[in-house]
Amino acid sequence: MNDAGRRAAELGANLDGVRRRMRAAASDAGRSVQDLTLVVVTKTRPADDVRLLAGLGVGDVGESRDQEARAKVEQCQDLQLVWHFVGRLQTNKAASVAGYAQLVHSVDRARLVAALDRGAEQAGRRVTCLLQVDLDPVPDDARGGAPPAELPPLADAVARSPSLVLGGVMAVAPRAQDPRPAFERLAQVSATLRRDHPGAAIISAGMSGDLEHAVACGATHLRVGTAVLGSRSPLR
Ligand SMILES: *Cc1c(COP(=O)(O)O)cnc(C)c1O
Repeated sequence: MNDAGRRAAELGANLDGVRRRMRAAASDAGRSVQDLTLVVVTKTRPADDVRLLAGLGVGDVGESRDQEARAKVEQCQDLQLVWHFVGRLQTNKAASVAGYAQLVHSVDRARLVAALDRGAEQAGRRVTCLLQVDLDPVPDDARGGAPPAELPPLADAVARSPSLVLGGVMAVAPRAQDPRPAFERLAQVSATLRRDHPGAAIISAGMSGDLEHAVACGATHLRVGTAVLGSRSPLR
């Protein structure tokens, strides 16, 4: 087998493992696996991996840096992929991201909403925005996210933006803690949001290490990197 064949086999086996975990978690939670979307986070990985993933039936991929994402989107233009932007987003990169991302998971401030709306309009696209919620009792600026109390005006701002769609909420579980209370809180935040915005039903939560907890708490979109692609360099 050549290198590409070996890599494809490795990714295929990892994907099978993740899909098996998703089925088991859905079954334990009394949910249908059809209601779960797997977003494979390909940050730091080459476009060749994205291409192999597409061949293995992956339709949703996630990136966290604009420059890197942009290059990969270009190299994968022939593939039918939905690109998700999941990382911290600087306002001055918003227009670029709005040019290729169908969903932005990390919307956490009004200025970013305005910049994404302008960018999406210029690109003639509609971009679905998830509000990133900061669930850490000790707010961690490096990870982003708005405190739950700031969500209603942010949600209204997205809903009012002609080129944006309010899709729902996203969170990253606080580091080195039981993720369960955070995901339960996120489910409550989602329920509150849907009182005013019934269509905003996406809950993006769960990564390689905690997807079972996220599924148990109602997650609809799982962002999985290392469990599919192997470990990244410790810098990322
Ligand atoms: C990298 C990343 C992921 C994937 O994390 P893994 O632990 O590799 O599964 C998910 N969400 C965000 C926001 C990320 O930056």
